[in-house]
This record gives sequence, structure tokens and C-alpha cells, in this order.
Amino acid sequence: MTSDMNNVIDLRSDTVTRPTPEMREAMMNALVGDDQYGEDPTVNALEEKSARLLGKEAGVFVASGTMGNLSAVLAQCDRGDELILGDASHILWYESAAPAAVGGVSPRTVRTAADGTLDLDEVAEAIRTPGPGYPPTGLISIENTHNRCGGAVLSIEYLQELKTLAHGQGVPVHMDGARIFNAAAALGVSGAEIASYADTVQFCFSKGLGAPVGSMVVGDAGTMERVRRYRKMLGGAMRQAGVIAAAADVSLDTMIDRLPEDHRRAKRLAEGIAAIPTLTIDPATVQSNIVVFKPEAPLDQLGIVAALREAGVLSNDFGRRGIRLVTHYEITDEGIERALEVLSGVVERMLQGQAIHA
Ligand SMILES: *Cc1c(COP(=O)(O)O)cnc(C)c1O
Repeated sequence: MTSDMNNVIDLRSDTVTRPTPEMREAMMNALVGDDQYGEDPTVNALEEKSARLLGKEAGVFVASGTMGNLSAVLAQCDRGDELILGDASHILWYESAAPAAVGGVSPRTVRTAADGTLDLDEVAEAIRTPGPGYPPTGLISIENTHNRCGGAVLSIEYLQELKTLAHGQGVPVHMDGARIFNAAAALGVSGAEIASYADTVQFCFSKGLGAPVGSMVVGDAGTMERVRRYRKMLGGAMRQAGVIAAAADVSLDTMIDRLPEDHRRAKRLAEGIAAIPTLTIDPATVQSNIVVFKPEAPLDQLGIVAALREAGVLSNDFGRRGIRLVTHYEITDEGIERALEVLSGVVERMLQGQAIHA
């Protein structure tokens, strides 16, 4: 374990979590085989368990969320197809233009609303009618919970309407559900209920679930066969991957039920931030484990991130959206209170500094 990090409150992301002792134990004892021969029992069990958990026929274990999203896009789109997705989506922002660069799939963006939804009329308008000059619409991708929208959770009603619209036009739906279990916890429904509104779902073991590596793509058996082929093509077919699948398996058993704790702490964090002058956030909008707040003038956003870091609180500069903080299993109630104290002290000193210069 890295002990140098023990006094640091790392709120940059839920990806920074380290495997639990139980995960390390499981990794040590994992039964393994050659996964490309379909012979790794731990990987096979994880794929089956994940599919069952989300009410789908099959699953494919992949190295990362990016690989999961890309292989799902490739499995459902031909070259020259369009992928409808939000202009604030992770796929558009943080995945190196993979669908276009690797798959020849062009992104057709629709504005992402503050609550993480895509306006259904705009989606309907973006779906192409057939014609030799038009790129066919291959897939619609939604994100749940929504990272850049501060962990916003898509409602079941919305998911239902989007699915009806998409399927009415013969277009499949992919859900970038990196944090689908956070969405489920926030709504008090099962992951399977949420996944039932998408044809394919990608979720991450390496975020709030705390596992060191890996994501899963789930969907019907035929689509997952294609995902498996594209995973290989992308260099993501592994061998004795049971050692990492074992940790992911523990994450499903031990980390899902505790996610409401992260949400409660994110809420407390948001309420504490709202009470600090010149920091803007509406705690009512914090639905899961992501908190985004905006420092108002004369505060300097990058200065705050740097001063927090200096004081042992790590945050993420989120550009025009503000500063992002993410709770996870290594963040305690005490950590939240200390982060708030540090933040409030940083802001106070900055405002005093401004007053002296004025
Ligand atoms: C983290 C994340 C991913 C995938 O990220 P990787 O770093 O490739 O595992 C995809 N979508 C969202 C919304 C994410 O937060």
C-alpha cells in the first residue's frame, strides 16, 4: 500500500481508489487460464455474473471504459455511420476521438442539458432518414451518471422515452454507464432496471467500485460476440486476466451496497461548499458522488486548486464548469470535514489577499 498518500485527501476522482485487502487476497488466490481460449474461469464467471446483474445475455471483460465504449460502438456501427451523443459526453471529451479515428464513425453531437439528458426533439431531428447522401445513424449513446454534469442521474422516465424514440427508428442505444451502480443507488432501483433501457452498457470496476483495473460491456449474445472480436482487434484480448477479474468480482460483492455512503458525503461536501462565500453550488443538484462548484470573481480557480493541493486536498480543475470533487470509499466523514476546513481557509486567505491589493 502506498503510505505516502495517507495524509492526502484525494478527491480528484473515484479512479484513485486502491484495491481493498479482500481484493488483493482474491487476486492472489484467483484461478486462471488462457482467456483468449475462453479458459480463464475467473474471467468467465465475472462476465456471466455481470451480465446477470444487469439483466443481459452476455458480457465481455475489457481493459478500460474507453475500450468498452469503443468496442460497443464498433460492434454496432459501420464505417461512415453516425454516432449521436451529447456534446458534454465522456466519449466526445476524453476518449481521443476513438470512434472517428479508429472506426470511421462520425460523432453527431446534440447539446447535453445540465441534467445530463439530450433533448428528445433534438435527438429525433439528428436521426437520419435513409438516402445515398446521408450518413446512416448507427447508434445513440447516453451517459449515466453524467461526469461533466456533476454526476447527474438520468431518470427512468427519460430512459424509457429515449429508448422508445430510438427503437421506433430502428436505432440501438448504448449507455456509457461507467458509474451505473451510482445511478442505481441514487434512484433506489437495480442496475438491471437501468440497463433495460439500453441495448449495450459499459460499466467500470475501476471507479466507485474500487477495483484496480477493468470494465465490462454487456448486451445480447450476438453483439457481445462482435465486441469480443473488436476487443481483440484493439489489442485488448488478455491471457491470465483472472488476476484482475478476481478483484473486479470482489468489487461487485462488496462495493455496490456502500455507494449511498459516497453520495451522502458528496451531499455534505456540497452543503459545506455552499456555505463558503464566493463559491457557487446548488447542493440540490448533487445526486451521486460528484461535486462540481464554481469559484466566483475575484477568486482564481487554478489558484484554489493549487492552494488545496499544497494543503493536502486534491481536486480537479474542470475548466469553465468549475472544480470537481469526487467521493469514494477511501474518503471518510472526517476527510470531508477536513477538506471543507481547508477549502474555507484557502478562500478566506485569497479574499484577504485581494483586499490588501485593492
Ligand atoms: C471513466 C469514464 C469512462 C472510461 O474511462 P477509462 O479511463 O477509459 O476507464 C467512460 N465514461 C465515463 C463517464 C467515465 O467517467
